[in-house]
Amino acid sequence: MKSRSRTIITRVIAFLLLGAIVNIAVAWGLAIFAPMRYTVSHCGVFIPTTVPNWDVAVISRTGAVLVDANASATMARNGPVDPKRIPHWSMTSTVPSELDAQQDRSIQEIAYGWPQLTFFSRNSWNRRHEWGLVIPWFSKYDSRILPLRPLWPGFAINTIFYAAVLALVFFVPRKVRRFVRVRRGRCPACAYPVGSSPVCTECGAALPARWYMKRS
Ligand SMILES: [Zn+2]
Repeated sequence: MKSRSRTIITRVIAFLLLGAIVNIAVAWGLAIFAPMRYTVSHCGVFIPTTVPNWDVAVISRTGAVLVDANASATMARNGPVDPKRIPHWSMTSTVPSELDAQQDRSIQEIAYGWPQLTFFSRNSWNRRHEWGLVIPWFSKYDSRILPLRPLWPGFAINTIFYAAVLALVFFVPRKVRRFVRVRRGRCPACAYPVGSSPVCTECGAALPARWYMKRS
């Protein structure tokens, strides 16, 4: 019994590790093969109601969110006011510093991941990439960045989601196969026809007691 619970724990950990690997692969795969572009026109913007503030554009698509923002000490732009669209992980969810506003600091933040966002990176006004790894084998006009900063709770949710999918893919066909064998009166482990023995005469697997007794 103790070794059985240990087996279950080992399997859960193994599937969670595999789930985390798939989760990271999906987020980085999106960043490499389906990158968000930096071409942003500030049309659905958040109006700065206090100064300094961020002039923000948020662009969402499946698996990615891009935040493009300029710190402004004076600017007030036209557009719908919707602060709810600004992600909690974005620098623009807090007020910019006076210095950022005076320097018109601009930032681009990109998050990737599916079904939830998993990682994000930030590209700052001085072209420094925070939590982002520039992938060198793309041209400099098409720079692609691997985001490295994990997002909570998206990382955990995706990891559990992919672990569950992998576990289903792994266990369901085995369960179905065993079910079909039992229905056909065969050993669930090896499909050998079952007689009156409590164990399979072919592979030695223990058979369910009520089942072989019914047949004998
Ligand atoms: Zn058998």
